[in-house]
Amino acid sequence: KAKGRNRAHCYSVSDAASDKLRNSLQWAQQLREAIVNDQIVMHFQPIMCVRTGAIAYYEALVRLNLNGNIVYPGEFIQALEQVEDINLLDHQVIGKTIEMMSRHAVLKKVAINLSAQAFRDERLVPWIEQTLLKYQVEPSRVVFELTETASLNNIAGTCAMFNQLNRLGCEFSIDDFGTGFSTFSYIKQLPASSIKIDGSFVKNMHQDTMDFVLVKAMAEIAHALGRKSVAEFVENEQILTLLQQLGVDYAQGYHISKPMPIELLEKTF
Ligand code: C2E
Ligand code: MG
Ligand code: MG
Ligand code: MG
Repeated sequence: KAKGRNRAHCYSVSDAASDKLRNSLQWAQQLREAIVNDQIVMHFQPIMCVRTGAIAYYEALVRLNLNGNIVYPGEFIQALEQVEDINLLDHQVIGKTIEMMSRHAVLKKVAINLSAQAFRDERLVPWIEQTLLKYQVEPSRVVFELTETASLNNIAGTCAMFNQLNRLGCEFSIDDFGTGFSTFSYIKQLPASSIKIDGSFVKNMHQDTMDFVLVKAMAEIAHALGRKSVAEFVENEQILTLLQQLGVDYAQGYHISKPMPIELLEKTF
């Protein structure tokens, strides 16, 4: 465009880059088909209050059910981010999850993941507000999770989005904390109610002193700033006991429960 209108320019793209792009475009197409065929499925994983042992809320995790083959987000989230189709997925996930919250009493409070590009989507906050109204779901029942790296890429944009969501009455949590370039000034600015310590530090904290010390420090930062602390990848009882000793507020992981479809969740909790 900078060179003037009505011009064609030939780019030479490396093979790896073009493979990546092709893969992304295939997922973008797959996503559209999945929307039409109602193949987007939400699974839910409980998050437990460490002090009482009660389930405090559930995290909604997206899957594609392609004719019985369950496809996990690790396979398609990055691909969709590359072609900017991730906002479409976010809107679908929000619509589905909030609709389910209006029908299933077990889903008292739910955490919904937002993609790294969410703050660039002007239609996101109005979509959330509209959906909550449509299904008569109290905004305080929804927590939005955004990864630390995504927040850091655009602190001003993220702050603006989360202030808007806070005004609606929703909460906000910083996901995968410790994997980005944690700066103290940014945590101070972001209106988050909780900080989710990344699972990579948690899953070995019972046998790795460094990990233990890092989890302890992150929990202390959260508390000093008046935020709740959440630990993911709690895979055994030893970890849960350590978290209890450290005063971590919430725990999530296979030791407590795997993510599951709503039918199983209703039978289990
Ligand atoms: P996340 O938000 O950090 O979610 C936690 C991931 O860890 C989930 O993987 C969950 O199944 C897995 N997990 C839970 N407990 C354990 C455990 O004890 N051990 C281990 N090793 N893993 C555990 P999942 O569902 O494959 O999701 C991966 C990532 O994809 C999520 O990480 C999140 O960033 C993204 N994601 C998931 N659902 C959505 C969605 O609806 N929208 C968007 N934008 N992103 C999503
Ligand atoms: Mg999450
Ligand atoms: Mg996480
Ligand atoms: Mg994680």
